[in-house]
Amino acid sequence: MKDKLEALLQQATADLAQAASEDAVQELRVRYLGKKGELTAVMKGIGALSPEERPLIGQVVNTVRDRLEELLAATQAAVRSRSKSLRLQSERLDVTMPGRRRPMGTRHPVTLVTEEIADIFAGLGFQVAEGPEIEIDYYNFEALNFPKDHPARDMQDTFFVDDNVLLRTHTSPVQIRTMLKHAPPVRIIAPGTVYRCDSDATHSPMFHQVEGLMVDKGITFGDLKGILTIFVKQLFGSGIGVRLRPSFFPFTEPSAEVDIACVICKGKGCRVCKNTGWLEILGAGMVDPEVFRHVQYDPESVSGFAFGMGIERIAMLKYGISDMRLLFENDLRFLRQF
Ligand SMILES: [Zn+2]
Repeated sequence: MKDKLEALLQQATADLAQAASEDAVQELRVRYLGKKGELTAVMKGIGALSPEERPLIGQVVNTVRDRLEELLAATQAAVRSRSKSLRLQSERLDVTMPGRRRPMGTRHPVTLVTEEIADIFAGLGFQVAEGPEIEIDYYNFEALNFPKDHPARDMQDTFFVDDNVLLRTHTSPVQIRTMLKHAPPVRIIAPGTVYRCDSDATHSPMFHQVEGLMVDKGITFGDLKGILTIFVKQLFGSGIGVRLRPSFFPFTEPSAEVDIACVICKGKGCRVCKNTGWLEILGAGMVDPEVFRHVQYDPESVSGFAFGMGIERIAMLKYGISDMRLLFENDLRFLRQF
């Protein structure tokens, strides 16, 4: 009987060494220590023993039971801790790993150039002014010395909302609105979106302009030339050639176009500058006394100059962009370059 008990303990030890889960350990507990378990079955033979043998075997049974309890508890603990460490490993988080980055946008070249222009003029004492994109004929044309039915209106193909309301064709109405609100001196730039019925490689029906206006006592054409030369040299580099040519605008007299030396061929002549060596970048002139009369400024006591430029054109020249439509197609491969 003692041999049976020792064999039982040996078998149980071997079985427990194989147990891989808590369920398996529980099964072995029932098999060896349960009411219908193997130890109980062996103990049933005790009654057949002699009175001398009984206490001895009883002692062996107790030892085997204690040993089995110990083994079961130890195996249970080992299995539990192994499964816990496995779970921890599979759920492991590396908190030092970099997170997933959101894709970053870049600023549009038109925005970049607008901000650069505004910065340069801020350094020259100009403030930024804004106005509505849907305008009244009076502010867009009439107050700027484009009388009704005047041929000069044909210079700007206009989107009309009705006879009197239109999408502004330039940011010049902001000059009128500013002068109607403020007495001189005035020193503003007006960046913004403008609209014209026009669309090809160098024209878009929606584009951007910056206009500027400086009015005070004793402003001369020399001030115009000085301010615009400083501006152009800050934008394109101090070595760039600048020239003024006579021109015509209804709201300035005299008027001029400002050219810079071709940024592609450096003045030698190429396809972009049509072999002239020069590129037109802005229009300017001394404010026409008619415009001052519309805003109740006295042309006898104040004078001033105005200028305007297309931002897309400046961006194209500055960044070497050959087709204006690239600026509006929103192709990320193009926009990411800036
Ligand atoms: Zn050129």
